[in-house]
Amino acid sequence: MRPAYRDQHVTDVGGGVWSIPVPIPGNPLGYTLVYALESPKGPVLVDAGWNHPDAWEALTGGLDSIGMAANTVRGVVVTHFHPDHAGLAGQVRETSGAWVAMHEADARLVRMIHGFADTQGFQRDMLRRAGAANDDIVVENTVKPPALPDRELHDGDLVDLPGRKLRAIWTPGHTPGHICLRLDDRLFTGDHVLPGITPHIGIYPYDRDDVDPLGDFLDSLDRIQELGPLDALPAHEWIFPDVGARAAAIRQHHEHKLVRLAVLLREQQDPLTIWEIAAMMTWNRPWDDLSPMLRGMAAGEAAAHLRTLEVRGAIGRVAGIDPVRFQALDS
Ligand SMILES: [Zn+2]
Ligand SMILES: [Zn+2]
Repeated sequence: MRPAYRDQHVTDVGGGVWSIPVPIPGNPLGYTLVYALESPKGPVLVDAGWNHPDAWEALTGGLDSIGMAANTVRGVVVTHFHPDHAGLAGQVRETSGAWVAMHEADARLVRMIHGFADTQGFQRDMLRRAGAANDDIVVENTVKPPALPDRELHDGDLVDLPGRKLRAIWTPGHTPGHICLRLDDRLFTGDHVLPGITPHIGIYPYDRDDVDPLGDFLDSLDRIQELGPLDALPAHEWIFPDVGARAAAIRQHHEHKLVRLAVLLREQQDPLTIWEIAAMMTWNRPWDDLSPMLRGMAAGEAAAHLRTLEVRGAIGRVAGIDPVRFQALDS
């Protein structure tokens, strides 16, 4: 069972670190755990939460309750650009003059999103090219893009947390610029490693053949495993020990999914579109029960797994047709 937001409390997790649950209104994930790290020059936040008045109230109220007023926040380092993490970073900056930092690959994406003239047209075209049925070409209202960061981080950089060593570890996959942050024997894992669920790994547009987010994610899991049995402070669910063991289990989960997908493609007579393949895969609910938005995300996951199988040489895409189709390769 996923813990409910109403059962969450601001918690002193030791070593000058507090966790503040910040609600994500209307989202089954429930809440983001924002971490406040003490420093002699004002607290630094790891993530900020969703941009919503209730979330702002929870964040500022939580900070107040531990004697850290929002207008004293020194900086916000976001693990990645998603709205449940970066959404409130801009408002914190307006309140305290804090810096906002993220990995340069996510910063590039945020700049691109700010520059989009026609987001909905882009999404519709992307769905069509993946072979989505007309009923599935539904474009939801998009959330406000996150604030542009003032500081860009690279792998291994130390975050500006006076008196302490908080180091960025680049863990691309869930987003191209996702980072985990190491503080002594603890690791802030963002969405990269969560105790009960696996993060969404998708490829957008679905038919891209110049990136391999799932391959990157699996490599990033190996990276975390190499760090040893650190305690994990994730952005959702709950704090847990031995992040390396959990990273290994998540890698296994995806390797099994890749094997099942390769078998499924070998059983087909004809090449299939991404949408046709996604509809045949196993999801936590039957395909027919998924909303267009959830189908879009499932297709993104399917596309990411297809791309990794393609990179590994197990399957290929049929050239020159629209929508793109995939088939098993003879081995
Ligand atoms: Zn995320
Ligand atoms: Zn998240």
